[in-house]
Amino acid sequence: MRVAIVGAGFTGLTSALRLSQAGESVSLFEASDAPGGLASGLSRPGWEWPVERFYHHIFTNDAAIIRLAHEVSWPPLFFHPETSVYFEDRIYPFDSVLDLLRFPHLSLASKVRMGATLGFLKALPFWKPLERFTADRFLRFTMGSAGYTTIWEPLLIGKFGPFAPSVNAAWFWARVFKRTARLGYFRRGFQGLADQIVDSITKRGGRVLTNHPVENVSVSKKGFVVRSASREQLFDRVLFTTSTSLFLRLFPALPDRYRSGLQQLASVDALVLLLVLRKPFMEGVYWLNVLSRSLPFLVLIEHTNMIDSKYYGGNHLLYLGTYLPATDPLLHRSPSFLRHLAIRQLLAIRNDFDPSNITSCFVFRGPQAQPVVPVSYSSILPTISTPIPNLYLGNMNLVYPWDRGTNYAVELGEKLARVILHP
Ligand SMILES: Cc1cc2nc3c(=O)[nH]c(=O)nc-3n(C[C@H](O)[C@H](O)[C@H](O)COP(=O)(O)OP(=O)(O)OC[C@H]3O[C@@H](n4cnc5c(N)ncnc54)[C@H](O)[C@@H]3O)c2cc1C
Repeated sequence: MRVAIVGAGFTGLTSALRLSQAGESVSLFEASDAPGGLASGLSRPGWEWPVERFYHHIFTNDAAIIRLAHEVSWPPLFFHPETSVYFEDRIYPFDSVLDLLRFPHLSLASKVRMGATLGFLKALPFWKPLERFTADRFLRFTMGSAGYTTIWEPLLIGKFGPFAPSVNAAWFWARVFKRTARLGYFRRGFQGLADQIVDSITKRGGRVLTNHPVENVSVSKKGFVVRSASREQLFDRVLFTTSTSLFLRLFPALPDRYRSGLQQLASVDALVLLLVLRKPFMEGVYWLNVLSRSLPFLVLIEHTNMIDSKYYGGNHLLYLGTYLPATDPLLHRSPSFLRHLAIRQLLAIRNDFDPSNITSCFVFRGPQAQPVVPVSYSSILPTISTPIPNLYLGNMNLVYPWDRGTNYAVELGEKLARVILHP
């Protein structure tokens, strides 16, 4: 069977590996110059390891990606970095029950309610009934207004913008249920793991074609004709792991009912700045949630407070990230404007920050990087099989109730391969 897979993120890489292990003839088309998709890395002269364009780690219970990493001899390394929140001009540790109890801006009653809600969600083994409620309604009711509006509402709004009021409580459950204090990372980052998977695919005869954007796919009696890099090739099965919108664009003849189902799916874009610094910015803090709506970036992640700066030529790496609807003008501002905005935010957090400490600033945009899951999302959840026989779709819109992530990309990639092998 000749299988074309479109997109060499972790979903496409995993499907390609499993299908080539099963002896199928696999061609993996990737538009960019490297595999890894949203988790791919940026390399710089003098750095031993690349670093992700978009900050990445795994949890200790991300079983699918951990198993795959061991299988390709690239096991994860685990750390216990610090998570904090920035609230009213100060940074507070926010990693444990003790940190919650010490947080000075909530009453004891609010802290107890918040702790009880988070503990309940962590222990709850099922999620389905929660999808009938919005996270906003559920959390306001369980935690009380003070706890919710101080901590969680700003984070929900920062992540989903105008969609925040519609996000369902099952999504929130998944975030709490899966989170672990220890975090995993890979030697040479996620790029290191992606490269290792590519090696395993090519050893089994699979083809990984970078710089090969798929421009067109036509359906003929003999199969699918895939056009990429001015060449046309024939396949028996085609699997799309790219955005749903690209899939819809390439298949205008899909039935209206199916199209309109997919068109209902909403998402937000990611905007991330990666600053290369001479000196650290935050003392010991890896992840900082910014609970202030007047500051444009929702999170700061000091990567080198988890991974030794020696891998990056002694530089310190700081991400500033946020999510925005595709129409937000901030997504289209120039790198120099965004750098200026980042400096303003860093000065608001630490007024002794010296901007000359920044040696480079990279801007990354991830269109449709974060799916939005409204109430009763299971009723509109897309399926892997499509109305066109032998054409499959698998992207982060399908991993519900889990939030997008490389672990779910691996799980989905394995599921896609199973569906293709045993329709
Ligand atoms: C800011 C941010 C932070 C994140 N943090 C984490 C984290 O800490 N941990 C974690 O596990 N996950 C994290 N994620 C999520 C994770 O990156 C994704 O869920 C996962 O990488 C999705 O993999 P994928 O293969 O489904 O899609 P993608 O990675 O989006 O891959 C799709 C691929 O398709 C390619 N493509 C597009 N068009 C074409 C075309 N026409 N022809 C050929 N190829 C094409 C793209 O170049 C891309 O390589 C984060 C994401 C973002 C945006």
